[in-house]
Amino acid sequence: MQEVKTDLLIIGAGPGGLSAALYARRAGLDFEIVEKKMAGGQIINTASVENYPGFKDDISGYELAQNLLGHCKRFDIEVREYFAVNSIESVNTRKKDKSYHFKCPGDEKLIWTNSVIMATGASPDRLNVEGESGLIGKGISFCATCDGALYRDREVAVVGGGDTAIDEAIFLTKFAKKVYIIHRRNELRAVEILKDRVLKNKKIEFLWNSVVEKFIGKNKLEEILIRNKKENKTYKLKVDGVFEYIGWKPNSELVKDLVELDEKNFIITNFKMETSLPGIFAVGDVRNTPLRQVITAVADGAIAAIYVDRFLSA
Ligand code: NAP
Repeated sequence: MQEVKTDLLIIGAGPGGLSAALYARRAGLDFEIVEKKMAGGQIINTASVENYPGFKDDISGYELAQNLLGHCKRFDIEVREYFAVNSIESVNTRKKDKSYHFKCPGDEKLIWTNSVIMATGASPDRLNVEGESGLIGKGISFCATCDGALYRDREVAVVGGGDTAIDEAIFLTKFAKKVYIIHRRNELRAVEILKDRVLKNKKIEFLWNSVVEKFIGKNKLEEILIRNKKENKTYKLKVDGVFEYIGWKPNSELVKDLVELDEKNFIITNFKMETSLPGIFAVGDVRNTPLRQVITAVADGAIAAIYVDRFLSA
């Protein structure tokens, strides 16, 4: 197997990883950046970003990611795409004898590195109710930007009451003739500006205090069994598609036995983005950050690269 030796391995090429790469380049570090899917991160699935400072007109998540990648290319940073790191082993801390701290095998290459930045992000959480597994991709989706256009003049439902659910429900009204928002409480978690906007949207109907009990359909989604918790009544709702936006689970599996995680498996870091194991840093959605946005991920990436540099030269 081909071997690569480096001072820093950045795992994940979303906004956090790409920003870490830019700052690592400026610090003159020797590094690799790998991404198991396409570079850009979760943001490429977001239809419109309107709160990234400096972009006063909406920019699509895909475009923002392309700008970030273009910026990296300008500094000769190449992301190794579709490269999954299979494990991280902490092997040695004797830096002086030129041995490497971490062994990170991928499918075709083995990477030895002295430090790691985990920029692996988070994946959409699932409801885990009856009928869900068999209907994913057959009416159940986690990405309105990818699948929204399939529901032109149809009726769809969104599950969740946070920023993502509300943002994406509004986006879906461009295509669907009706969008139900199924929320387990009678109050939204989303920020005020989104609340105002969604409550004014005539194509959106709220099903408050409601939970999905079951997805029904043979080869595609046909109905949802919903329970109104307040009235304790169940009923069926006919929809063509459902978009689940109920939060995220961190992609922290690679380091779960190496560093401290919180109760939801987010990686615990300090303000330097250091984890509990020297040499491993974490940025963006995978860490226990109070705010999961592009702006916080890119800031984390910059901070981590600076402290990796200090760690390596200590
Ligand atoms: P979130 O804030 O965690 O919201 C998840 C929503 O799903 C909540 O309303 C929650 O209900 C509901 N939920 C959770 N588990 C559920 C279950 N098992 N069954 C039914 N409902 C369930 O997640 P998010 O909306 O994806 O946002 C994540 C982060 O990204 C946040 O920091 C957010 O601010 C940020 N974000 C920002 C923007 C923006 O700035 N435009 C856009 C997207 C995301 P409860 O409210 O009852 O807990």
